[in-house]
This record gives sequence, structure tokens and C-alpha cells, in this order.
Amino acid sequence: MIGHNGAEIDGVGGLGGLDGVGEGTRAVRAGLPDAEPYRPPMPGPVLAAHYHLPGDPAAAPYGYGREANPTWTLLERAVADLESPTAPAHATVFPSGIAATAAVLFALLRPGDTAVLPSDGYQLLPRVRARLEAFGVTFRTAPTGGDAQLAALDGGVRLLWLETPSNPGLDVCDIRRLCAAAHAGGALVAVDNTLATPLGQRPLDLGADLSVASGTKAFNGHGDVLLGYVATRDDRLADEIRAWRTTTGAILGPMEAWLAHRGLATLHLRTDRQQANALAVAAALRERPEVTGLRYPGLPDDPAHATAAAQMRRYGCVVSFTLPDRERAERFLAALSLVGDATSFGGVRSTAERRARWGGDPVAEGFIRLSVGVEDADDLIADLCAALDTASEARP
Ligand SMILES: *Cc1c(COP(=O)(O)O)cnc(C)c1O
Repeated sequence: MIGHNGAEIDGVGGLGGLDGVGEGTRAVRAGLPDAEPYRPPMPGPVLAAHYHLPGDPAAAPYGYGREANPTWTLLERAVADLESPTAPAHATVFPSGIAATAAVLFALLRPGDTAVLPSDGYQLLPRVRARLEAFGVTFRTAPTGGDAQLAALDGGVRLLWLETPSNPGLDVCDIRRLCAAAHAGGALVAVDNTLATPLGQRPLDLGADLSVASGTKAFNGHGDVLLGYVATRDDRLADEIRAWRTTTGAILGPMEAWLAHRGLATLHLRTDRQQANALAVAAALRERPEVTGLRYPGLPDDPAHATAAAQMRRYGCVVSFTLPDRERAERFLAALSLVGDATSFGGVRSTAERRARWGGDPVAEGFIRLSVGVEDADDLIADLCAALDTASEARP
């Protein structure tokens, strides 16, 4: 365990006195220091650019703020505990999900390496890819659903990057099966665990070498922090990721780290409620004739449900569907009052957006990505149905 002085610098979690407890208990305690008389159960953010540092700095846990911070340490320990409750793991936090993504790809790939990326993954991946191609890394892409990712592993791959469920299409791939195939060929596997959160799925337990996520979304859940992290059980990989952070200076502010850690105490409550609401909303949307292509991996008849059920414990908060055209989708979004017209997802307040407005995602003009919050399901359903009614009545 870690004391209030943060004596242990590395955010090693897993097994940290939380052996055998349930997920809710783990969420409220993960990363907290040992109880000490007259100290707060959860220390406040440590705002420090430098620390008192007498003598030889080599053994000092904290010397300069770019390298380490006790508030990061506690959050990293919490992330490691949640992503890997069954075995010790390291977590490294970053100032955004894309900073964590870039850390894995840039720190682990070298000129001449080949990596496999999802063709339907996060919209910024192609831009990170282009930067790496300029340094001589080669990429193949394959969609998340189906068997194309397996086929893409043929012939010397260094890294397989999975995103499951994928954003925004909500396809799912079999993490265990792909890890076995990738490892047989000597490839590392990283899974973008943003949508599921560690309470929805634990990629490291399923065989992945790295679990990477944007904590900006459901993990933080309050829409007030950008955050990313990388978790791994491999000491050498953890060292590489940490060294990348220090040499690029891609560091999280202590205040953001503290806010995210504070919010983790309700992660299980939020993800349970979001899943229940998402199922209720999906069931209501299914009754609407103008809604097509409805996807939610938690729906028993969703094409991804069988694979999802074999590796997920909660199915997340994102429901996607398609309205007949762009105009109908825009009228629908404008008519919503409880559901905000905003990008991002995972927050306590529901949001929706017409995804094609950004370009880049392989989706129809009327495609809606709906992020279901923790409001009352009946209120959300009433708001969504009223907006669908308004959108279909209105004449352009
Ligand atoms: C948002 C997102 C990211 C990027 O995270 P930021 O925190 O916005 O940088 C990466 N992957 C997925 C699946 C995301 O949804």
C-alpha cells in the first residue's frame, strides 16, 4: 500500500489489499492510501513543480514535477487496481486519451515494424498513423467485426491495436482469440478500453499486453477532465511508456488527476445505471419506424452480443442508430431538451450527435451516436420520442 507521503513512486496496483472484494468496493477504495490518524481518507491534489530534494536524486521518489507526482501515483494505482485486480500491473496516466495512444504507438514501434489498426476505430487514429508512417512504420487496417483482423496478422506484425466495442460503430471483436493468434506470431496486443471502462471489460485478463483508454469519457464521467492511461503487467513495457511520458513532457495536471480519482468512487454506480438506461432507451428506439441500424452490444439480438457477452461484464453507455437523412437527424438533435447536442460520451448527462458532421467516420449522414447518462430512463425516453416526433412532423 502507499502512505500519504507517496513513498512508493510507481503506480503499481492489483492485489493491493483489495483481494477478493467486489467491484463496487474496489471502485470506492482503489488507489487510496493506508489509513493514518488525522489524515484525510483521500489526500488533496499535490500542486508542486519541484520537491525538496537534498543529496543524490537517483533514489528520490519525487524530485521534479515532470517525472512524478503523488496525486498521479494514487490515480495510477487505482487504474492498475481496476484494470488488473488479479495480478500486479503498472498504470501510467496521460493528459488525454490520444496522448496515451500516441505513447504506445510511438514508444513501441520502430522503423520497419508493421502494426495492425482497426479501420473503424477512433477518428484520430489515421492521423497518428500518418505521423508514424513518416518515420517508416507500416500499417494494415481491418474492421473490428468479422475475421479480417486475424487475417491481417499474417507475416510479421509487431503490434495489434484493437478497439472493442468500436467507437462509434459498436462492433466487437474476440479479444482472447486475437491475443492468442497475435502472440503466436510474436506480436504485442493493445486494446483501447475507452468505451467499456475497466468495469465493463478487463483486456489484461483476456490476454492483452496493454489496456489503453481515454479516461475523458465514462471513466471520469463528469465531462470536466481530459485524461488518458496505459495499463500493463509487463515491467519493460511500463518502463518504455513512462520514459516516453517524461521525454515528451505529456503530463497530466495534478488537479485533473485528483478530480478523476475522486469520480472513480461512483464508477460502478454510473456504469450500472448507464447500462440500465441504455437498454431501456434502445428498447424504446427499436419501436420507432424511422430508426434503423440500432446497435447496443447489450441487446440480446445485437450482432455483437454473443462475443460481447463472452468478454464484457457491462456493455457501456453508447447506443447508435441511423435516421433517414441528415436533415431529419439535425431536426431530431435540435428538438431534444434533456439530451445535449454534444460530442464525446460517457458523462452523467446524456448527449447525442450526428457523427458525420466531423467527417472521417465510416457512417451514414443520419447516423446518431447517443451517450446515455444517469438520468431517469423514463425522462430520457420521453425526450427522445418527443424529438423524433418533432423531427418527422417538421417540413424542411
Ligand atoms: C475519445 C477517444 C479517444 C481519445 O481520447 P481523448 O481523451 O479525447 O484524447 C481514444 N479512443 C477512443 C475510443 C475514444 O473514444
